[in-house]
Amino acid sequence: MARILIVEDEAKIARFLELELKHEGYEVLLAGDGRLGLEKALKDNIDLVVLDIMLPGLSGIEVCRRIRLESQMPIIMLTAKDDVTDKVAGLDMGADDYMTKPFAIEELLARIRVALNRKSKSSEPKVDLLQIGDVKLNLTSHSAYFKEEELILTKKEYELLEYMIRNKNMVLTREQLLNNVWDYEYFGDTNVVDVYIRYLRQKIDEKYGLHLISTVRGVGYIIKG
Ligand code: CA
Repeated sequence: MARILIVEDEAKIARFLELELKHEGYEVLLAGDGRLGLEKALKDNIDLVVLDIMLPGLSGIEVCRRIRLESQMPIIMLTAKDDVTDKVAGLDMGADDYMTKPFAIEELLARIRVALNRKSKSSEPKVDLLQIGDVKLNLTSHSAYFKEEELILTKKEYELLEYMIRNKNMVLTREQLLNNVWDYEYFGDTNVVDVYIRYLRQKIDEKYGLHLISTVRGVGYIIKG
């Protein structure tokens, strides 16, 4: 469950928020001034900060600015009054959202859920990767890498490699590879498979000193991993 830091100097409000958030199942940390708040935000593995603007020590605006120098964690600002200047300053400093006191707790909880949801979505990997040892395939861009170095593969070489990695640890016959990777015009001509296996070996195994593709004599090829 997410860890939420509440930076609020008014003990009654802080306590109320703590109880409500714990009731929702969140883990809650409290800080009663700006300096402590900043320290906890950066050191205590926090997922989201509820940050009051009017604080002793450092103002909420300043805390927000300094958090943003190091982290993109969601920050929801609390403003004591409906002060447009405060709101604009908070959002300028990179706050994700703000609420004006007094606020309905349900609304704050809803905004916390939205902010955490957005955070978990943006931290999900955006690309689909397939990896075997140091060889990585980016299934979205159809590119292949050895460590960080991109392999220069033709479309067919890439498709053959992807098919073999998807079916790793299975001996794949030439017919199987031909049927799954090539168009039907090559039907029956399994030499083309040997030719492309040779290309892949030159570009990967020989170039990087690997033994990615093995020959299973009389049967076909296999990638183990
Ligand atoms: Ca305050």
